[in-house]
Amino acid sequence: MSDFQAIIIGGGMSGSWVAKVLCDAGVQTLMLERGPEVEHRNDYPTMFKHPWDLEHRGRVPAEVQAANPVISRCYAFGEATEHFFVKDTEHPYVQEKPFDWIRGYQVGGKSLMWARQVQRWSDFDFNGPRRDNFAVDWPIRYADIKEWYNQVEEFIGVTGRQNGLEELPDGIFLRATGMSCVDDYLQQIVKENYTDRHYIHSRAAHLTEVKDIHRKQGRGQCQHRLLCERGCPFGGYFSANASTIPWAKRTGNLTLKPHSVVHSIIYDDKLGKATGVRVIDANTKEEQIYSAPYIFVNAATLNTNHVLLNSKSERFPNGLGNDNGLLGKYVAFHNYSARVSADCPKFQDKAMVGKSLANGYMPRFRNLRAADQTFKRGYAVAMYCSRYFDVDSEDIGEALVAEYLKPKNYSGWKVSALMMGETIPKASNQVNLHPTEVDAWGIPQLNVSIDYDENDRLMMEDFYEQMEDLFSKAGFTNVNRIDTEQAPGLDIHEMGGVRMGHDPATSLLDKWNKMHLCQNVIVSDGACMTSMSTQNPSLTFMALSARAANHIVEEMKANGELG
Ligand SMILES: Cc1cc2nc3c(=O)[nH]c(=O)nc-3n(C[C@H](O)[C@H](O)[C@H](O)COP(=O)(O)OP(=O)(O)OC[C@H]3O[C@@H](n4cnc5c(N)ncnc54)[C@H](O)[C@@H]3O)c2cc1C
Repeated sequence: MSDFQAIIIGGGMSGSWVAKVLCDAGVQTLMLERGPEVEHRNDYPTMFKHPWDLEHRGRVPAEVQAANPVISRCYAFGEATEHFFVKDTEHPYVQEKPFDWIRGYQVGGKSLMWARQVQRWSDFDFNGPRRDNFAVDWPIRYADIKEWYNQVEEFIGVTGRQNGLEELPDGIFLRATGMSCVDDYLQQIVKENYTDRHYIHSRAAHLTEVKDIHRKQGRGQCQHRLLCERGCPFGGYFSANASTIPWAKRTGNLTLKPHSVVHSIIYDDKLGKATGVRVIDANTKEEQIYSAPYIFVNAATLNTNHVLLNSKSERFPNGLGNDNGLLGKYVAFHNYSARVSADCPKFQDKAMVGKSLANGYMPRFRNLRAADQTFKRGYAVAMYCSRYFDVDSEDIGEALVAEYLKPKNYSGWKVSALMMGETIPKASNQVNLHPTEVDAWGIPQLNVSIDYDENDRLMMEDFYEQMEDLFSKAGFTNVNRIDTEQAPGLDIHEMGGVRMGHDPATSLLDKWNKMHLCQNVIVSDGACMTSMSTQNPSLTFMALSARAANHIVEEMKANGELG
């Protein structure tokens, strides 16, 4: 007799979607989360803090930065958010090559701190590996996931416009917010000068209006405070904590166990399937075993690889389901290291009032309908257009506001284009268990060996040229190429290592995210990604997770395991 009907490893963005779908269907579900509970509102200690309430006005002291060089490079890490980020020293890993691994170990995972940008994939993405001859063919296409994008978008709430683009399918969107005058201008310049590309507003997981489905979650309208990474008391943006986890809890079918570090999955050689999970209590270090007929691994891409690599048995001495030796290989990411900045001398009489939830966005246009570049695949562009103000005033109240609105206190418009480059997965970009280094729970540390390649460099060169061309057509000045030289990882979009595919000889997961060689273990976080495309990936992780969980529900019903 099993303890539960299903176990989910990881209580973050993707795991919470598995929990929602299973619990809605009446599946008795255990969610194991290595970090502490973070209850919506109750555990957001800085959500209402003003800069002057924070000891260092929001900045992180030099000694904290020095002790945490990796996490300090993340733009969202600050005095008001530091409690949600994993400190470098607490959870060490081995960087065979430099890799900035940004993690959130708590209920809700990184869904608390994410930037909420959500773009769908299209068949230009799912067809990519087959057409361009890299990785392996995806076992699914857009038609397989479309319904799940719909369900996820409707539930989480996404602001966006219907753009009618084949390469970035439209979705179920709430009211869109306005773009800046410089974005509008760039949209016009792109329309007038190019036939192969588009300039739109990105889509973001914020409630610009509150529908019944959001009210049922207890969420309210986004207030445009943009203090999101602290946790939003209104539930104005999607986080697992504000949405999917309390929803699953309310069904009465979810048991959530925080402080539960999953060591490994237990495989029964005789039964030929996984039977449970070995857990170490994060605080007492006591070991416990939980059993269930279905085990979902949603610990975030590299952690999922880590758990599976550490799940050794007589049948699978190199990690669960790893007969082909590909577990941990073909990891890839998004190359965010190229930027082009410029000044826009126009619109000096205009400024933005309020805060925008989204940014200018150019979906991938290189190698789209034909592979006609010197490099494989392509990049999307995120465009940030803003004016800064610098007010030196003794005024308070209305007089201070009036001072802020004076044009003389504004800088000119600054524009920054960020490349979101697709990287090509390859066997040499991999993670494995370090042979000697262990963590505080006696688990071998993860050894990370991931790097850029020549394709990335060629793509960056093209991005620089294309943005220079666009900015020159727009009459921008001070155009600068920037190579941040950042290590992979800081994009926080690492994917792969447990890829989906048709063939057990060349992939680890089937089209339902079940392990080819251990069919009751399901992996639907970023580890399952066969290729990376350019879009911010979490919407796809959530849609795949909902789809995979629903498939198991159907299987349970067919087997008579559910009423
Ligand atoms: C600053 C920032 C900005 C981002 N912006 C965007 C964006 O705009 N758009 C986008 O698409 N994505 C964005 N992301 C990425 C996004 O947050 C992740 O893709 C998403 O959270 C991944 O979901 P997940 O469920 O795989 O992992 P997570 O949400 O990280 O959840 C994994 C959970 O598993 C737990 N866990 C790990 N190991 C174990 C173990 N051994 N035992 C038990 N539990 C374990 C972790 O503690 C964690 O709670 C951003 C991330 C950050 C940090």
